[in-house]
Amino acid sequence: MAAGVDTPLTGFVIAIDGPSGSGKSSVSKQVARTLDLGFLDTGAMYRSATWWCLEQGVDLEDEAAVIAATRELPLTIGTDPDAPTVHVGGHDVSAAIRETRISEQVSKVARIIPVREILRQLQRRLVSEAGAALGGVVAEGRDITTVVVPDAPVRILLTASEEARLARRSRELHGAADPASVAATRTQIVERDLADSTVSQFTVAADGVTTLDTTDLDFEQSVAAVLQIVAAARP
Ligand code: C5P
Repeated sequence: MAAGVDTPLTGFVIAIDGPSGSGKSSVSKQVARTLDLGFLDTGAMYRSATWWCLEQGVDLEDEAAVIAATRELPLTIGTDPDAPTVHVGGHDVSAAIRETRISEQVSKVARIIPVREILRQLQRRLVSEAGAALGGVVAEGRDITTVVVPDAPVRILLTASEEARLARRSRELHGAADPASVAATRTQIVERDLADSTVSQFTVAADGVTTLDTTDLDFEQSVAAVLQIVAAARP
């Protein structure tokens, strides 16, 4: 059996992948709200595993230790797009997992294949549970369309030019997109995408995945374009 198709999907599943700054998180969340579906941020799961390893004093270069810690990851993640909660071992880590120290190190955890397999199984279960409870779910990340739910009825790759992605992230992180802020953002974003692309393909759409280029679209236009793709696919 191919990886990723081991648990049948329940409900209407929309899979969205894309690089940093493509808008996938905010757009996916808004699409979920509009369609009254659940929302799963799989990046938050990799970030939580990283936070947990660091909290446990695990050396991120020690793959066996990272795998062991991820197996025991006491993660609870909500799928309500209006209140996306993330708890690890009872701690609310929603803010902590967005800190620079996590962004800078998460790829070290995400590139370990057995870690990906542990999280893939968990993601697949969460998608199915949210699908059953809410009628459907929007799941976003780097390998959702290709590995986690390749059998989803709607699969979209959100892309945007590097310039547009850097400007968006720069505004988020530094509140501006002037040359100095963009330069400060570049190292983090470009290096992370490069590291991530060694284990996931999220720059070119796989067969059957619809590419949506948001370079010239604002947030509302991006949401509308995704909704249009969904409407065309929905029975
Ligand atoms: O989307 P976000 O930037 O929060 O993702 C954080 C990190 O989690 C990514 O840089 C990547 O290393 C990892 N990730 C992944 N596969 C996913 C989602 C995220 O490897 N499906």
